[in-house]
Amino acid sequence: MVMTLEIRPTALADAPVRGFEMLIDGRWTAGAEGRTIDRNAPSHGIVVSRYQAAPRMDAERAIASARKAFDHGRWPHTTASQRSRVLLKAADLIEARAEDLAYLDCIEGGKPITQVRGEIAGAVDIWRYAAALARDLHGESYNSLGQNTLGVVLREGIGVVSIITPWNFPFLILSQKLPFALAAGCTCVVKPSELTSGSTLVLGEILEEAGVPDSVVNIVTGTGPEVGAIMTSHPAVDMVSFTGSTGVGKLTMTNAAQTLKKVSLELGGKNPQIVFPDADLDSFIDAAVFGAYFNAGECCNAGSRLILHKSIASDVVKRVAELAKYVKVGDPLDPATQVGAIITPQHLEKIAGYVASAKNSGAKVVHGGDQLDLGMGHFMSPTILEAVMPDMEIAREEVFGPVLSVLTFETAAEAVEIANSIDYGLSASVWSRDFDTCLTFGRSLRVGTVWMNTFMDGASELPFGGYKQSGLGRELGRRAVEDYTETKTLNMHIGGRTNWWMPRQENWPGQRTDRDLAE
Ligand code: NAD
Repeated sequence: MVMTLEIRPTALADAPVRGFEMLIDGRWTAGAEGRTIDRNAPSHGIVVSRYQAAPRMDAERAIASARKAFDHGRWPHTTASQRSRVLLKAADLIEARAEDLAYLDCIEGGKPITQVRGEIAGAVDIWRYAAALARDLHGESYNSLGQNTLGVVLREGIGVVSIITPWNFPFLILSQKLPFALAAGCTCVVKPSELTSGSTLVLGEILEEAGVPDSVVNIVTGTGPEVGAIMTSHPAVDMVSFTGSTGVGKLTMTNAAQTLKKVSLELGGKNPQIVFPDADLDSFIDAAVFGAYFNAGECCNAGSRLILHKSIASDVVKRVAELAKYVKVGDPLDPATQVGAIITPQHLEKIAGYVASAKNSGAKVVHGGDQLDLGMGHFMSPTILEAVMPDMEIAREEVFGPVLSVLTFETAAEAVEIANSIDYGLSASVWSRDFDTCLTFGRSLRVGTVWMNTFMDGASELPFGGYKQSGLGRELGRRAVEDYTETKTLNMHIGGRTNWWMPRQENWPGQRTDRDLAE
């Protein structure tokens, strides 16, 4: 069903279509076949950006360029201090162009402008954090292996990294990968989503200005099957860092397995918020609404499953529904908007399909449930479904829209069971004033992040990633640069070796026997 509201989005002030080229081998270039992709603003329904649709040969050229830059270029051999300075300069330039970057992610992705400004500020912090980590990348030494051995463990940049990103946080997710790969001395081929490539391409200009040498970062635009597939399977690529859906993540791993590339995967989530009767409910109600509707629920971390203690369930649902009425859905360019547009009409249909199928299975709509007609673009009302059972599709699958499912529990053991019963394991929160309850849940939940009495807080210092089918590996945190390295052991012998088969020559100068060492 489509509901019509009175609000109408502001007109896009005479915005011209912005055209972009790709960055391959240090040059801005059109695609080899001259094809382009037009991006409609999902909030306004008009074309705002035009990207190159690279054919396979452009992706291959970009990979060859990154390979050349790694094998023969200077970037992997610059000092950590030099790389760190380049990353800091990039951070400053991102900050200086924040409004341009925010506008592109807002208008191409349908995300509220105030929110995207926060994302760009967060990205700047990550680039600075990566710059700091670059200075501390080091190996290990072992001086404890006996008199005649010294072991040194080196950390070397892993080589050419393919970076593939989704549309929901285009600039932020790129920033969780690229600066760390660069800090390690790697060279990269980057492919943003074909729906939101603008800010990644602007970053290409920023990196040139910051002093990243030619060919170290190549940016190729186009579709997943055409460009992404070659980036995940080409023998000249050493590692793939992918964020996106679990389905494409599995395909990525299969492709990469043919040449045994290292793979890092940040995938989907269906994240529970578990609430006990002793929780600070005022604080939780706000977090429930924020967790479910932030970024229109198009968020891997969306708190899309409320798991409420039975004794408080009806009161909590009533209060969440009441607050959901005040969530401002509308034009993402309006600073007052909290929920923007849904990324494509096809995705809106998919979300609506999930709601319809949940209703057929017995779930009840407490609030919303409808597509919204704001005069243009594609919008969905914040939706709450109750009477959801743990085995329903809506309780187990990632909807990736503003849809909150409410489940209930009676015992703590049951809550853990429901929370852990699905294939995803990205994040969760637990709400209780009891320290023991929070810590017990923190240890029992099979997820990469557990928030306690809060939701979706983050920091560059804290590792992020998923258990189970939510991913493989972690981003951010102090080991984030190490992820983009290989380990090499230097095993050094001091003095003469003890021979394996030649007769021992006791008097051979330099020959050390066990007796010598004991003395
Ligand atoms: P998607 O998997 O459709 O696409 C992600 C990227 O992969 C895009 O650049 C796309 O072009 C590319 N791609 C598509 N087919 C490919 C192929 N065959 N080979 C290689 N690359 C291919 O995901 P999406 O719809 O862009 O993003 C939404 C998904 O991303 C959700 O499932 C969400 O949970 C997940 N996500 C996860 C995290 C996290 O950190 N865990 C963060 C954001 C988004």
